[in-house]
Parts: sequence; C-alpha cells; structure tokens
Amino acid sequence: MTQYYLGVDVGASFIRIGVVNVNGEIIDKVKVPMPQEGDEDTVANIIIKGARENLGKYLPSISAVGIGSIGPLDLKTGNVLIAPNLRWRVKRFRLYAPLRRGLGLPIVIGNDAMASVWGEYLFGQGAGRNNVVYVTLSTGIGMGVVVDGHLLVGKDGNAHEMGHAVVDIESDLQCGCGGYGHLEAIAGGGNIPKSARWYLEKRYRGQMSELALMVKEGKATTPDLFNGFKRGDPFAVEFIDYVLKAIAAGVANVINAYDPEVVILGGSIFLNNVDVIMNGLNKYVKRYVANRMPEITGTRFGDDIGIIGAAALALRVPESLKPFIESQEKSQ
Ligand SMILES: [Zn+2]
Repeated sequence: MTQYYLGVDVGASFIRIGVVNVNGEIIDKVKVPMPQEGDEDTVANIIIKGARENLGKYLPSISAVGIGSIGPLDLKTGNVLIAPNLRWRVKRFRLYAPLRRGLGLPIVIGNDAMASVWGEYLFGQGAGRNNVVYVTLSTGIGMGVVVDGHLLVGKDGNAHEMGHAVVDIESDLQCGCGGYGHLEAIAGGGNIPKSARWYLEKRYRGQMSELALMVKEGKATTPDLFNGFKRGDPFAVEFIDYVLKAIAAGVANVINAYDPEVVILGGSIFLNNVDVIMNGLNKYVKRYVANRMPEITGTRFGDDIGIIGAAALALRVPESLKPFIESQEKSQ
C-alpha cells in the first residue's frame, strides 16, 4: 500500500492540510481560515474535521501527521502559546493531545519555520547539504536552522525566534513580544503599516506623497507600501529600503551565527515581492556578514513549503524532536 504523510501548516491566517508522499510531493490539499478566537481545542478540531471531510479517502494510508505551527510553542506538552496581541480568550491552544486522540496517528509537532527548513533539507534546495537556513517573511518572521544535519529546537521549541533579532538599536517601536528594535516589528507583514507610520513620524524628512498621507491616517496596507516602492513613491522608496536593510541585517545575523551553505526564503511577503527582496538582500547582506557568503535563494515550493515541511517532520523525525514527543505522550 502506498504510504502517505499528513502535513499541517498552522499559520496566522490559514491552516493548510496536505497529503504528502515519501518523495515530498503533495497529492492533495485543503486550506481553511485560521479562527480568530476559540477555546483550547478549536484549532485541533478544525484540523481533524478538515482532514476527515476533505482528505478522508487518504486517511487509511497515512502513517503519521506532522505539524508546523505559529508559535511560541511549549513543545514539552505540544501546546501553542497564544501571542498577547491575538484576541483569544484562552492563553494557549492544544495540539498534541486532541490530535493524537482524534486522528489516532503518531503526531510530530514543530514550529512552522523549523518544519520548513526540514522540508527544504530533505526535499528542496537544502537537499544534499548539511547546513541550511530557512527564513519565512510572512505575517511574522521566523527562521529554521539545520546545523551539521541537526535541526535546532531549543529548550521549549523556540530556537527559531530569530524574527526577534535586534536590527535597529535606536528604534523605540515596540514589537508584539514587548521588545524593541526587533526585525519582526519593523518588517513582519502584520507590522509593516505600523512600522511605516513610526518611520514617517520619527525618521522621514522627505517629500509628503499621497501614500505618506495614507500611512499617517493608518490607511496604507503592506501591499500599498511595496507597490509604492515599485512605482517610485518617495516615502515608500525610503521606508521599504529601511525594511530591506532590516531583513538583510536579520539574515546576516543568522549567517554569522550558524554559517549555513544556503539561506532559503519563503512566506507571503517574500513570495509577493521576490524581486524587491532579493535585490535588497543582494545589495545589503554582505555589508553585515562576517562569514563566507552562502547561497541566498527563494523556495521552489511557494506556499506549499509549510505543508511539505510539516509532513517532512513526520516522515523523518528529527533526532532533536524525539525527546519532546516522549514528553508530549506522557503529559497527555
Ligand atoms: Zn519581538
């Protein structure tokens, strides 16, 4: 019988569920909106329902389920802590216990960036390499790291939180986590409108464009700002250049820390602005890097990397996740 794995990508906006074969290819998939509130088991119940109703015919052939989730995680219990800026009435949602019970299959949980780097390491542009970094530029920013063939996990499963790397020590713009000068506060897709307003008030001395006025009134979206950059709006050109420098500094920090052979980028902000971001990285990363430059490239999997990476965690369970799975099983 053909063997499949279920890959579940739990993002800030969508939950993507896919059936993946042993070669890392998606056979079938479904996308459902991420609920904006609920109780501890809402997310798990949506995953179970989505899998049963849309992918039910594959379930008898599924060997294991991999999850790549937004964080922060508490990997000892297999729960996800809810960021304080989300309006959930509960402080965490449970994944391991309800999914293990509801699906009756082995469950492997990791952070989304951690899952994506594992997917790239097994099936993508990290294949055949031992030192791989994946950077997701999305609503938030995360980085997954494989060093010497070993997936970095950390004490609670949050070794990937390089989205909170400090890239502007002079900034008084507060990040959702409470810190200052963080990459995610400046360049996270969900934060760019606020970051633009901060930049306009605190740093911008140029010509006021129509877009700058929209930013001032809180009406400019993240796509508005990237589009403004592309057509040469003076405010957007200066602000997005600042965002690109911040992203380059974050990528350089991870290159300096882990000496990767390849850095692979993905996530909605990257995928919608590939040329702008690659040009920015080519221009600015070198100025911040100490180590020999790695290859910097975009994911070949587009949006699907989340599903492929999550399935990859279940398909070949990283050694560094195994003690956490034992602990999740005990804490059920
Ligand atoms: Zn932060």
